[in-house]
Amino acid sequence: MRICVTGGAGFVASHLCERLLSEGHEVIAVDNYVTGAKRNVATFLDNPRFTLIEADVSKELPVEGKLDRVFHMASPASPIDYVELPFATLHAGSDATELALERCVTDGARFFLASTSEVYGDPAVHPQVESYWGNVNPIGPRSVYDEAKRYAEALTMAYQRYKGVETRIIRIFNTYGPRMRPNDGRVVPAFCGQALEGKPLTVFGDGTQTRSFCYVSDLVDGIIRLMESDLGTPCNVGNPSERTMLELAAHINEYTGNQAGIIHKPLPKDDPTRRKPDISLARERLGWEPKIEFADGMARTVEYFREVLAK
Ligand code: UDP
Repeated sequence: MRICVTGGAGFVASHLCERLLSEGHEVIAVDNYVTGAKRNVATFLDNPRFTLIEADVSKELPVEGKLDRVFHMASPASPIDYVELPFATLHAGSDATELALERCVTDGARFFLASTSEVYGDPAVHPQVESYWGNVNPIGPRSVYDEAKRYAEALTMAYQRYKGVETRIIRIFNTYGPRMRPNDGRVVPAFCGQALEGKPLTVFGDGTQTRSFCYVSDLVDGIIRLMESDLGTPCNVGNPSERTMLELAAHINEYTGNQAGIIHKPLPKDDPTRRKPDISLARERLGWEPKIEFADGMARTVEYFREVLAK
């Protein structure tokens, strides 16, 4: 198939491009490198079935020829990015989603939206199941991301209902692995970088808040299964193994042999208290569940950051 991946030079999307190429597809990645980077696609840049186009997908989708699939993966996705790039984040969810959906109308292509567990906000239901509508602050600092993705889901469902587009919506939970930006401010790159430099890990708040971390190859497997399934409603994909930030810090300090311990910093506003996906739907409809053990995935990730820091 001819497949367009918006944000194709980003962390998750670059792994998706690589996997699609390995399955024999033609892949056209579009990215403006605002949070993505060319180095993420360096290992397959010379693949003749791969094209990389520099463009802002909230303004244009300059891809020639008929497409079979469009994966809309482009968006800033880290809490510090929302503050730095509030309008780019809003436009990635709104204008870019509409442009990509319009293209799917024109080409008769299937559309895939990378949505997020952030649509659940600071959830009052635990673990989070797709039928839960969420607890989102519509005007807080995270709202540029949360509400843009909620709008993107509404837009996607409207195109499915009223314009006959075949659509898929994934709600991605915390994901980690190689190609995360070392300075993107998210907890895994922050802790890995600090540990490798022998510094104390910056735990925000008391560190009892939880997240459930999925290794990137498991996520990509879920993305592809969902796209090729017949599931037209949102589907959670994430690893249900939940841990506190204190536990995460202890694991990384132990693995790296970092003696500097932790320091506490203020908790960001509206930081979700608990997050864990209910993946019953993905299990039933996609036959998907995560395979990579946390210790294994984290070791691969630390080694990636070790290489990046050495450079
Ligand atoms: N966090 C932390 N130290 C850091 C960065 C993040 O303790 O240096 C915490 C953050 O407050 C949140 C969790 O780690 O509770 C996950 O944050 P991240 O920014 O990775 O993603 P989120 O799930 O909040 O979007």
